[in-house]
Amino acid sequence: MDSLLRFENVSFSYHSEHDSPDGLQPTALSNINVTIRSGEVVAILGHNGSGKSTFAKLCNGIIKPTGGKVYVNGIDTSDDNNLLAVRQVLGMVFQNPDNQLVATVVEEDVAFALENLGVKSEEIRARVDEALEAVGMSEYKEHAPHRLSGGQKQRVAIAGIIAMRPSCIVMDEPTAMLDPEGRREVLETIKKLNSELGITIVIITHHMNEAALCDRVIVMDHGHVLIDDTPRKVFAEYELLKHHSLTVPQTVELTHFAGLPPALTIAECVEQLYTQITGG
Ligand code: ADP
Ligand code: MG
Repeated sequence: MDSLLRFENVSFSYHSEHDSPDGLQPTALSNINVTIRSGEVVAILGHNGSGKSTFAKLCNGIIKPTGGKVYVNGIDTSDDNNLLAVRQVLGMVFQNPDNQLVATVVEEDVAFALENLGVKSEEIRARVDEALEAVGMSEYKEHAPHRLSGGQKQRVAIAGIIAMRPSCIVMDEPTAMLDPEGRREVLETIKKLNSELGITIVIITHHMNEAALCDRVIVMDHGHVLIDDTPRKVFAEYELLKHHSLTVPQTVELTHFAGLPPALTIAECVEQLYTQITGG
């Protein structure tokens, strides 16, 4: 698989006048090396302040590394002349859908960025329809965004990104403000975008069961990468995760106490416990 997003020795410090004489705060990210390959679904975990949002903002040049380089499809994000190209490859979705919706009608909202880019109107029409279809919101195209549920709003925000036809979407806690139904809707949408459109997904989340469903999990701690592996290997590091104040999916908690390997889904958990209890 090709490298779509590459962090090469990336460090980042937030500037502030109130801090140390050199104006730098302690590093939010220290020497990060991460490569995301085309087609992957990657979860990023870590407690508050571990550097997850800083990582997300570096992905499309909202902020620039204070050390090292970030490449999107081989394009250096630190050069402002590259930002449009970078943002056409890599879209961002944030936590609060209300802050991402700008128009008073759903389809206008999805068209917004395309209009700003000067895309022709027939092309906009086609892309907006395709994007709303991809997130399952076609029937709401003439609705007012502010009257939708949280999950629906977040799917409209995702449609606005899809309309740009990105290769990769980075999402910073896209389900954090949603109820369980909204979370389910958004997660299903994400999985479909990956499996049907081949879009690479990086999702920052506090929900361990969401991470368990990804291809790969990166655990951040104090601005470093603590672990970067498959969910099965990451959740096998039960003691290490607990030591860093992280939780694990309930299915992993249960299998751990039963002395079994980590179960990533309820079905797997039931099967392992059943086999243990029946001795079969
Ligand atoms: P997370 O998303 O994992 O909670 P962040 O990337 O937001 O972590 O924060 C990493 C570190 O950078 C924290 O120590 C945080 O306090 C600091 N930080 C984040 N945003 C800013 C900012 N705008 N100005 C100064 N420091 C910041
Ligand atoms: Mg954050």
